[in-house]
Amino acid sequence: MENKNTHYFKSLKKYNSKIDALRRYAEENQVPIIHQLSLDLIQQLIRIHKPKHILEIGSAIGYSSMQFASVDSSIKVTTIERDPKMIQEAKNNIEQLGYQTQIRLIEKDALEAFQDVNDVMYDMIFIDAAKAQSQRFFELYEPLLSMNGMIIIDNILYHDFVSDISIVRSRNVKQMVKKIQKFNKWLSQNENYTTNFINMDDGLAISVKEN
Ligand code: SAH
Ligand code: MG
Repeated sequence: MENKNTHYFKSLKKYNSKIDALRRYAEENQVPIIHQLSLDLIQQLIRIHKPKHILEIGSAIGYSSMQFASVDSSIKVTTIERDPKMIQEAKNNIEQLGYQTQIRLIEKDALEAFQDVNDVMYDMIFIDAAKAQSQRFFELYEPLLSMNGMIIIDNILYHDFVSDISIVRSRNVKQMVKKIQKFNKWLSQNENYTTNFINMDDGLAISVKEN
């Protein structure tokens, strides 16, 4: 059940672009795309921070990368996806909505894609792939972040389990939740970044690189 304030805020806006229309498809097909208000916040950060190059880990159907690219036609997004079915859907969507020139899709496991994406520095990195690996992705790609760049990580509260692991029954989920807890702690203590942990939707961390 959605929080009533979230529901209210969502009712204020139209969300009727062609990219927005993919949200319904994602919901019907259990593709875990970014929550609406989290996306609205990230798009606003993009308007303020004006990143030229964005790196995304976890494309799924290309929804978030197109939403980021749509903020300004000068933005270039590099997005990494390993699942063949998602790759195909992302390719189709990106082509159909005409984002081929702004978005490049790297068809690989993100743990092995460094050499494919290190031709540019990124002003923003969005980590939204396998949740147990968020720290590894952070450490691997962080060298590609430009000065004053920001790293945004989605799902750091993972279904309310991260703040209360006692409600988790499955052993596998417990393991993943422990890794997220460990990552959040590590991130909060990382002196190279100032991090803002946001209690909205499934939890968002916004880390800004220190000079
Ligand atoms: N960012 C998307 C949603 C991504 S869902 C949006 O908001 O629209 C997470 C995706 O990450 C899935 O499609 C999954 O296949 C992919 N993924 C998980 N682990 C990965 C890895 N190690 N390398 C590349 N992609 C990965
Ligand atoms: Mg997510």
